[in-house]
Amino acid sequence: MEYKVRLSDAGVHLFDRDSGLNVLLDEVEVLPGQVSPAPRYVSIALSNACELQCSYCYAPKHAAMLDIDRVVAWAVELDEAGCLGVGFGGGEPTAHPRFAQLCGRIAASTSMAVTFTTHGHRLTPRLADALRGSVHFARLSVDGVAATYERLRNRPFTAVRAAAALLASVAPFGINVVVNGDTVGELDDLAAFATDVGACELLLLPEQPTAATPGISDADAQHLVRWIRGTATPVRLAIAQSGLEGSVPAVEAIPGERPLDAHLHVDATAILRPHAYATTGMPIEGSILEAVHALKGAV
Ligand code: SF4
Repeated sequence: MEYKVRLSDAGVHLFDRDSGLNVLLDEVEVLPGQVSPAPRYVSIALSNACELQCSYCYAPKHAAMLDIDRVVAWAVELDEAGCLGVGFGGGEPTAHPRFAQLCGRIAASTSMAVTFTTHGHRLTPRLADALRGSVHFARLSVDGVAATYERLRNRPFTAVRAAAALLASVAPFGINVVVNGDTVGELDDLAAFATDVGACELLLLPEQPTAATPGISDADAQHLVRWIRGTATPVRLAIAQSGLEGSVPAVEAIPGERPLDAHLHVDATAILRPHAYATTGMPIEGSILEAVHALKGAV
């Protein structure tokens, strides 16, 4: 097995994108001048386009789309600088007309994991065929089950179940759920759905405040914490950084890792941001590593 190597303040990190195996050799000292300059993971909003209209959506609504030659050049640069994975989102990444080609080019020209998050309603057998072999993990957004899902997403729940089956033929996948007052009471059903469709992870995303929504309430956040502590679901649970992870038995992936070393986000207008909800960032003029350096100096 050939591992990709990332050097960080925490030690030597080995990663295999095909199995998803991560090994941290924390007993190996890495000198400051040897630390990999790229963040461990970069999320990229390929476009702002999405045909759904979720009230809690954080994606900007103005039209914007990234050029794939530019994204491939950034990926090659990030790969050489120790980044372990890129994750495409949006908007809806499968709405990008050259999405499958982009994933294929990055899988072929780097050793990073290629991942994406989708609502699933644009997946077709043809797109699944084009993505197979070029994607290492996928995430399917399922906010609530049955009537709740249909009210929030205005799409049939049977359609997202069919999308899960198609996604399972492409790569290992997880279910993402935005946790709020609509969905917090359906976590048992969502965990059962994830198990039924063969997902290997349920990622809990406490709703974040946006211009249109105040975010998860304190009462719903406490409900979520109680559910996590009490559930016996066999599916692996993960929780987004939200302030709640300190209240549940969550594992810190890389001890002591600084947020800007863990993850950065590129929006659909090529602005590099500390995360998808950040209001400020650094334009990527040419080199993405120059923008990483400038952002770290400015924050
Ligand atoms: S599916 Fe995702 S990108 Fe589309 S509107 Fe809903 S939250 Fe936004």
